[in-house]
Amino acid sequence: MYYNNEIETMPRADIEKLQMTRLKKALHAAASTPYYSKIYGEAGIDVSKITTFDHMQQLPFTTKNDLRMSYPTGMVTVPLSETVRMHASSGTTGKSTVIFYTRRDIEQWAEQVARAMYSTGARKEDILQNMMGYGLFTGGLGLHYGAEKLGCLVIPSAAGNSLRQIQLMQDFHPTIIHITPSYALHLVEVIKEQGIDPHSLGIKKAYFGAEPYSDATREKLEQLWGVKAYNCYGLSEMNGPGVAFECAQQAGMHIAEDYYIAEIIDPETGQRLPDGTEGELVLTHINREAMPIIRYRTRDLTRIIPETCGCGKTHRRIERIKGRSDDMIIVGGVNVFPSQIEAVIMNIPEVGNNYQIILEREEGLDRIHIKVELYSKLFKGDLKALQKLNKEIVEKLRALIIVTPRIEFMEPGSLPPSEGKAKRVFDNRVI
Ligand code: ADP
Ligand code: ZN
Repeated sequence: MYYNNEIETMPRADIEKLQMTRLKKALHAAASTPYYSKIYGEAGIDVSKITTFDHMQQLPFTTKNDLRMSYPTGMVTVPLSETVRMHASSGTTGKSTVIFYTRRDIEQWAEQVARAMYSTGARKEDILQNMMGYGLFTGGLGLHYGAEKLGCLVIPSAAGNSLRQIQLMQDFHPTIIHITPSYALHLVEVIKEQGIDPHSLGIKKAYFGAEPYSDATREKLEQLWGVKAYNCYGLSEMNGPGVAFECAQQAGMHIAEDYYIAEIIDPETGQRLPDGTEGELVLTHINREAMPIIRYRTRDLTRIIPETCGCGKTHRRIERIKGRSDDMIIVGGVNVFPSQIEAVIMNIPEVGNNYQIILEREEGLDRIHIKVELYSKLFKGDLKALQKLNKEIVEKLRALIIVTPRIEFMEPGSLPPSEGKAKRVFDNRVI
């Protein structure tokens, strides 16, 4: 029934005991790193005194920015000769967040994913077509190793190249697909355009993750593909996919609680909130040798479901991610902050000072449309010059956000001036 009976059905009291044992070890290791030794030293924190879930509240949060500041190895506990892999968040700034893993870390991550897949009903007989990006992004390799560990045949087809994906489906009959919900919406249309009935492909299950989507989208995707869909949550700072994963009940994602301590906080005050209340998810990785990140602010809004799950697992669940407590947007699977887009366009002298970012979804693909005001002088400029400028902005932004933006030049003063806090991002995507 379970991949790892002992761990997955462990009584709550024992899980909590295991978490504290692992936390102490993780804190001890973290305190040896340049980053945490400085932070804890300045705050006068003696990690050996942190022995309960309550005590943890004394520990400062770790943020994405802290990870950038300690780039590349300020949070690494072991010599790099002990590590066997690195990943980087799909955030596209030069200094992204880099995560290192020892051999044990990679094995443990595979175990975590194998276990999660098993609880959706996956077995060694299954064939997984893994349509997530491979490379620095954790989506592809993260699931890959877990599925192999379970004994599945893995087709590492990565994202994109739809016609080849379809060919692989027809030739090798995957029973499970791993894919972003937005690419799944697009791909299913391409399948239909080819005159193929998606239901005839024999796919039974789909793992959708890496970006937010709604229950309605899940239902739609289940119908379009003829599959059961399971929500898969993860972030590179906490390994990658498999941090929390739905079981066969499809009713919220079980957190791998022997790997993480989860807290929910009020994003404004940083105060911890009781189970069941919605807030920002904070995670502490207590089962990674190379990089034990402590109280990481995920910025993802959700709540812990306090009730036990019908599947019998004792690890608690989180609800579908509701949104983010910062302004990060995910476009075509890539994390972007509006400030990064702003930095690019505002560096171009011909651009005035107002702009809007409009996000849309066409046939399942994310589109980004940016309205940019020009300086009056240039607005009257000749068409050729404007076209050249447009191309320049598109190129610069494409290097940043990967998705090709559509740039529309606006007459100076034609965009609504901001009153107080500017609203520049309009997310019209129906998720
Ligand atoms: P990458 O895009 O490289 O995985 P990150 O690890 O930084 O980059 O992205 C993780 C973020 O993606 C999460 O913090 C969350 O906002 C989003 N995400 C991942 N999985 C899901 C999911 N199942 N539902 C909603 N959002 C998700
Ligand atoms: Zn369950």
